[in-house]
Amino acid sequence: MSYVFGPVPSRRLGLSLGVDLIPPKTCTFDCLYCEVGRTTSKTIEPGPFVPFREVVYEIEKKLMKTEPDAVTLAGSGEPTLYSRINEVIDSIKEITEIKVALLTNGSLFWKEEIRRRVLKADIIMPTLSSAFEDTFRMIHRPHPGLELNIVVDGLKRLRKDYKGLLFLEIVLLAGINDTEKEVEGLKTVINRINPEKIQLNTVLRPPADKRAISLDRKRLEDIKVFLGEKAEIIAGVPVAAKKGKADTLIRDLLDMVKRRPLRSIDIVNAMGLSSDDVEDLVKGLLIKGYISRQEHSGEIYYLSNGKDI
Ligand code: SF4
Repeated sequence: MSYVFGPVPSRRLGLSLGVDLIPPKTCTFDCLYCEVGRTTSKTIEPGPFVPFREVVYEIEKKLMKTEPDAVTLAGSGEPTLYSRINEVIDSIKEITEIKVALLTNGSLFWKEEIRRRVLKADIIMPTLSSAFEDTFRMIHRPHPGLELNIVVDGLKRLRKDYKGLLFLEIVLLAGINDTEKEVEGLKTVINRINPEKIQLNTVLRPPADKRAISLDRKRLEDIKVFLGEKAEIIAGVPVAAKKGKADTLIRDLLDMVKRRPLRSIDIVNAMGLSSDDVEDLVKGLLIKGYISRQEHSGEIYYLSNGKDI
């Protein structure tokens, strides 16, 4: 089993080496917009979901061959559920000076032990998509033990304890959390949390639920202006990337599309190949049945069929 994927182009971090700390699909939430699919194990109890030594060994091996901008702790679910995440952060820091980022839904920072485990990360990127309980429940379908006020309180406590960079992501969905009332509510709560950046996102890849509809660029721009100078739009920003080893290209490509659907341009950026090379690679994998195509918002995405080479 592979726990490390990429490097892949990240709209927020440049070239990011992903570390998958949670099996599909274990999460505290079951978001409408989730790209991994529906949550099959909804929990708020941390556990040793992946073998620590194997994970660290894979990270070390990969960093000998590649030089990403960040090592990103993520997962096919919520990574703060991994009970040894602090040891993974410590181990990465022993191996490299590359920044450690944590991609999280931000739902568990009200737990003191979870906050303590992540304090050495360089960048923490939690999500907060509404200031209203009903909307929070509609978007995230959280574990019954979670309420919005508990989650927000956790984010405020994290801000107090954590000395690194906090980039707060807002996933905006048309007709759900893009109204004036929603955006004003978010502004008030975000000001209290006081992150370094507010990163506006919307649905770009085929989501778990068809109700998750993208915002158009104009509305994203209006919300960005309203939220002030810390706000930026991260939806659809292309990122330059570097070239991978030829003999691992197919395996890397399959690894990437297993974790999230990708467009040709994402693959071009991730692997530093020409569009023609990517087209050939993808065509071969389609014919052999390793991947399939899906259209979303006028773009073609490639998805894994779950087969390994
Ligand atoms: S988007 Fe993230 S937080 Fe939401 S269900 Fe998927 S993995 Fe969990």
